[in-house]
Amino acid sequence: MLVDNHNRKINYLRLAVTDRCNLRCNYCMPSEGIDFAQKNHLFTIEELCRLSEIMVEQGIDKIRITGGEPFVRKDLMVFLRKLSQLKGLEDISITTNATLIGPYIAELKSLGILNINVSLDAIDKDTFEKVTRRDQYDTVYNNLTRLIAEGFNVRINFIALEHQNIQDIIPILKLMRHYPVSVRFLEEMPFNGGSKAFTTITWDYKKILAHIQTEFPEITKLDSPKTSTSINYQIKGHKSTFGLIPSFSRTFCGSCNRLRISATGDVITCLYGKPRLNLRDIMRGENVEEGIVEHILKAIGSRSKTGFEEQEKYAGIFQSSMTSIGG
Ligand code: SAM
Ligand code: SF4
Repeated sequence: MLVDNHNRKINYLRLAVTDRCNLRCNYCMPSEGIDFAQKNHLFTIEELCRLSEIMVEQGIDKIRITGGEPFVRKDLMVFLRKLSQLKGLEDISITTNATLIGPYIAELKSLGILNINVSLDAIDKDTFEKVTRRDQYDTVYNNLTRLIAEGFNVRINFIALEHQNIQDIIPILKLMRHYPVSVRFLEEMPFNGGSKAFTTITWDYKKILAHIQTEFPEITKLDSPKTSTSINYQIKGHKSTFGLIPSFSRTFCGSCNRLRISATGDVITCLYGKPRLNLRDIMRGENVEEGIVEHILKAIGSRSKTGFEEQEKYAGIFQSSMTSIGG
């Protein structure tokens, strides 16, 4: 079992399989000039499998596949097929922009990979295009409804962006009210590759909730697992639920059970910090298992208690883009 220096059990790995993406969401990355990783710096499928095996042996029982956009990797399904066979791994989930998932929906279902988070920050086509800088709304919406119809456990990630998509918060709740989905509103984090400062983010979870209550006063708070990052609610008469993720207010750090590994092997113990160390050379050297375990233990043995503590070490504007961190 992996336990950090604050006695938090780490059983959840967010594993990025690429830093590339076919969208250019403005909260995540600049429109151009992105310094994507060289291909040979990304883990191969064999390396991702080996890494996952080692991590599961250490007590990880939930892996979320993220990126970049996971489905831009042509060999993603090869990895997912192997991952779905891994004993001890109880939960495989994917975070995706849902542009490219269409051809894989049937196979994902047959592999039992049913937990899919879809990022959708607008239901107005023009707003979607402004936010993502790409004209892909129809494809995303079509794939989203297919996933729901096929019985996937779908959660929608909607980041509340001042002056951009706030007007879609109430409409997306209305649109989803007949579906068994959770619409989760995230606070924006200043990780879009450098143009955001911490002071520019205004829509926190309390403001989002107050906004929702102006339209839907009758809401009930739902019980959530202790390690959940979202505070969940149900609106009277709605089949869907909604959640608020204080990703910037960071109210959930105390029960953080997660570790991130980037597509190039960086080990990230907190979103608000810099990578602790890199596993790629270790993966490509001798005594792989020993080396990985030793480095993971080192990283989780020196975690900050909260994102605020971690942030203090990195004053000023963040240069990181979420596409290399994995969200
Ligand atoms: N491309 C996939 C997608 O968009 O779902 C997976 C990678 S994306 C980096 C993972 C998650 O991070 C998405 O839900 C996205 O909305 C979220 N994210 C990206 N940039 C963010 C930011 N600046 N603040 C908060 N969440 C962010
Ligand atoms: Fe791509 Fe996801 Fe970042 Fe949007 S949030 S640019 S879809 S990686």
